[in-house]
Amino acid sequence: MKRLSILGSTGSIGTQALDVIANSQEDYEVEALAAGSRVEQLAEQIRRFRPKLASVHSKEDAERLRLLTDSSVKIVWGPEGLKEAAAGTEADLVITAVVGSMGLGPTLAAIEAGKDIGLANKETLVSAGHLVTEAAAKRGVRLLPIDSEHSAIFQCLNGEKTEAVRRLIITASGGSFRDRTREQLRGVTVKEALNHPNWSMGAKITIDSATMVNKGLEVIEAHWLFGMDYDRISVLLHAESVIHSMVEFRDNSVMAQLGNPDMRVPIQYALTYPERRPTPTEPLDLTKIGLLHFREMDYERFPLLKLAYDCGRAGGTLPAVFNAANETAVARFLNGEIPFLAIEEIIARTVEGQSREANPGLDELLEADAAARRRAAEIRPEG
Ligand code: NAD
Ligand code: MG
Repeated sequence: MKRLSILGSTGSIGTQALDVIANSQEDYEVEALAAGSRVEQLAEQIRRFRPKLASVHSKEDAERLRLLTDSSVKIVWGPEGLKEAAAGTEADLVITAVVGSMGLGPTLAAIEAGKDIGLANKETLVSAGHLVTEAAAKRGVRLLPIDSEHSAIFQCLNGEKTEAVRRLIITASGGSFRDRTREQLRGVTVKEALNHPNWSMGAKITIDSATMVNKGLEVIEAHWLFGMDYDRISVLLHAESVIHSMVEFRDNSVMAQLGNPDMRVPIQYALTYPERRPTPTEPLDLTKIGLLHFREMDYERFPLLKLAYDCGRAGGTLPAVFNAANETAVARFLNGEIPFLAIEEIIARTVEGQSREANPGLDELLEADAAARRRAAEIRPEG
């Protein structure tokens, strides 16, 4: 029996995690569920999974939730509530499936409390990779990847020695606009950008896939999860999203992990590792797929991937600045405030001229994050 807490239970990853749990409910106990403002959906999850604690974004949401649930569940709210859901229960493992660097505080709290992390919330590792990995090592807790690429690499590395690895090869579908030129990106709509060819995901990560920022965040995520230099992490365009990522070894052998694009497989692997169990998903039928395609990554077409590498290599506060600028720019795009290509301009201008504070502590990081958000919110795009 594994005891779980899920942060972001009403989102794309959160609901798929609950689907995995429902498929094998006798193996799990849900200790806590945390969500933003989707109170009715959360109330339904509470009835079904009977957590002891539930957390929502605001006091008003908490009051609404109270009316919809019986008194046996404790209801908390706000950043403190989210932290309590992360660290204040009997959970063995916390699934971090909130969006953005707001996941940092609760993730660190969960680690401090000795809980393993099922890590979907990549922004946390991008912003504060050195703090999170250091805290996890110190406390002896595991960071189990849920992101499909990292789960694939994690599986390919099973039983291998680090020194035998030559490089990690992260695959990228290319996102909603992969077949468009930069010229053709002018005037694209939010609706078009939200239409991902292979995966159904939350809005923010779907936009990140279209700008290739998601792959940039994943490169930095891989750097921290697997302790690999940036020179040994490469990205390969692979339209079908069937090979979820690969590892090349020094004998030129390449290991790959394949499957249908269905997040329930990596989610469950994080929960049952090192065991494998049946999942409620379709088996892969390669005869139906027929062809797999690969293309070299074009860093001029996707300049934000190059910028992510640069920020990752520079280290210090720069990955946090890159991430915060992106979160702000994507929110502005989704609000209809700026055109798609302005996301690039805003991130580039926010990162520009930022000094690289080496080895920042938590306060410095949070400050850099907040300052980057202010800058990114004020920039009036020219392009
Ligand atoms: P989503 O937008 O679908 O869900 C976000 C969840 O966070 C929701 O449950 C929402 O209610 C909750 N939330 C929002 N504000 C909150 C608050 N203040 N307190 C507590 N909860 C709050 O997002 P998603 O697509 O599921 O992505 C979650 C994370 O997983 C992201 O970091 C993303 O990059 C990563 N990820 C997602 C996928 C995917 O397939 N969706 C794949 C790989 C990685
Ligand atoms: Mg991914």
